[in-house]
Amino acid sequence: MGLLTIGSFAKASRLSPKALRLYDELDLLRPARVDPDTGYRYYAPEQLEQARLVAWLRRLGMPLARIRRVCALDPVAAGQEIRAYWAEVERETAGRRELVSFLVAHLLQPSRKERTMLKLRHAALSDIGRVRPANQDVAYAGARVLAVADGCGTAGAHASTAAVDALKVLDRETLPAGSVLNLLEDAVQGATRAVRDITAADKEAGTTLTAMLWTGSQLALVHIGDSRAYLLREGELFRITHDHTLVQSMIDEGRLTVEEAATHPQRALLMKALGTDAPAPDLRLQDARPGDRYLLCSDGLSSVVADEEIKRVLAAVPDVEDAVRTLVASANDAGGPDNVSCVVADVEEFGY
Ligand code: MN
Repeated sequence: MGLLTIGSFAKASRLSPKALRLYDELDLLRPARVDPDTGYRYYAPEQLEQARLVAWLRRLGMPLARIRRVCALDPVAAGQEIRAYWAEVERETAGRRELVSFLVAHLLQPSRKERTMLKLRHAALSDIGRVRPANQDVAYAGARVLAVADGCGTAGAHASTAAVDALKVLDRETLPAGSVLNLLEDAVQGATRAVRDITAADKEAGTTLTAMLWTGSQLALVHIGDSRAYLLREGELFRITHDHTLVQSMIDEGRLTVEEAATHPQRALLMKALGTDAPAPDLRLQDARPGDRYLLCSDGLSSVVADEEIKRVLAAVPDVEDAVRTLVASANDAGGPDNVSCVVADVEEFGY
């Protein structure tokens, strides 16, 4: 078959001659022949497929260099490359959506002059420890959700994973203002159902769950069991969760001192865990300030590393990744008797 003029090729490909000239200049679709005297462009009919592909990719907003790369691939590889590109777009859009909801909230706030833009920098690390045969802990830090879960029973790892997975939906949703606690509560109910499906088969199974949901200015906290949340604020370390353990309830009743509790034979006995018939988890809202540093950890850290040492590390190690690594290493240096999980999150002002 002979070559097509730019006019008939434009008609056949439903692209304008102007677009075709542009694709030529951008090296996306070279004409089969250019008349040396008149400069007229001619196209081969088999170039139609590529012309349409270029047009579709431009409609997706794909950068030119990347279109060039896709066009050079075979169909299967091209399909994978387009999928990878779209995953990147969605990730980036999610990040921009955060910023948009912050800006809108910021502009609609009457007292916006006093408000600063805050963001969270975080890291999560879970380690098997030195003694246990498997890791039943989960540590997670996503766009909005921070979580530590410590599973128990033979299906403990399933229980902790199911609980944290159920919270991850919050990473993907747009948060309606003013109802974050409800939203977190719904997600926790989902987590409870997921864990109950597992405990139906293994009655010993269950999991702790200490998690935070970041809204851009506040943190909603959910807590059940003996994992912990700490806040380092202006050099002071505050434990902001209450252990749901037998020894903690004995301390509360004045029947045991904190020192005695540390060596009590039943110190790990949980009064409440997700998936059991325990009452609902503790839920509350925490105001975020720039400079705040949060730590979520499983008892694999807090049972062997003293609060004083946790505070020292949190205050001395500025980088969040380094901080979780240092904390996990301290638990392992202390014998690593249990799985150990840490999430460290810093509240920072948005850079302009
Ligand atoms: Mn543990």
